[in-house]
Amino acid sequence: MAVIAFIGLGNMGSGMCANLAKAGHDVRAFDLSADAIKRAEAAGAKGAASAADAVAGADAIVTMLPAGKHVRAVYEGEVFPNAKPGALMMDCSTIDVATARSVGEAAAAKGFPFVDAPVSGGVAGAEAGTLTFMVGGPEDAFSKAEEFLSIMGKAVIHAGDAGTGQAAKICNNMLLGITMIGTCEAFALAEKLGLDQQRFFDIASKASGQSWSMTSYCPVPGPVEASPANRGYTPGFATAMMLKDLKLAMDAAATSGATTPMGAQAEALYALFDNLGGRNADFSGIYKLLQGSWKAE
Ligand code: NAD
Repeated sequence: MAVIAFIGLGNMGSGMCANLAKAGHDVRAFDLSADAIKRAEAAGAKGAASAADAVAGADAIVTMLPAGKHVRAVYEGEVFPNAKPGALMMDCSTIDVATARSVGEAAAAKGFPFVDAPVSGGVAGAEAGTLTFMVGGPEDAFSKAEEFLSIMGKAVIHAGDAGTGQAAKICNNMLLGITMIGTCEAFALAEKLGLDQQRFFDIASKASGQSWSMTSYCPVPGPVEASPANRGYTPGFATAMMLKDLKLAMDAAATSGATTPMGAQAEALYALFDNLGGRNADFSGIYKLLQGSWKAE
């Protein structure tokens, strides 16, 4: 069994860390929050005093941090100087492609196998070990990482070179933001036209309007039992997170020269929803804004 350092024990990292410990690995866990470390200890990991302490002697290192600046600071300040030669590094955070590439290149220059491996599947997937990993990095780093990532996920897919895991993640989430808004608009229009929402779901979910946003995460209460719509739009996947991913996608579109008018609209609408008090609501709650019944709590 391997010694694994796990840094970043928030909503996602706590479940992922617990699954590595449950699989029998010797997991050294660190977070800036002492409570988060205590929860990791209760789930079978050993608490570490710092990221540097967690990394020392580890065979593999997993990071699950908020954004690019945290990832860069943790790798440059604590991981690279303290990791043992050849330690495998897996950053599972959702961050900008440019930072992912530059941290990946810095790792390669120091002889560390490194992958950017952002996830899809949310907190429920992190706890159940059913995440989808989109992995960027050299083939040899990917094959080493697969063993560990498959403990935390049901699908581990190699996207290509360094940074392509993050590219896949932001392209996927831009598409998700767009389809969610489109699905919400269709339900709001159906309601105005006097069409029963369950009947519209029964039809559209078997017609060409079908998408994951409709059949797995339906934004109106009723048709899909597991949808946040049935729990007052408690996340799930918070609007603030969707907005973060759309901003990453729009930054990447600007720097790469891609034309993404629908992505830009989705970003603008999620920024509006965020400003109107939807920040901590599930991103499917934008239905209420489009339908005209949104009131911030
Ligand atoms: P979170 O804010 O709950 O957790 C982040 C953790 O990192 C916090 O516990 C924080 O204390 C810790 N942290 C910050 N700086 C640190 C440092 N220097 N050293 C050690 N710990 C540090 O966020 P989350 O929801 O767990 O998301 C983590 C990442 O996963 C984000 O990039 C997010 O975009 C991505 N993501 C989240 C979801 C989701 O549904 N929550 C889904 C897919 C991907």
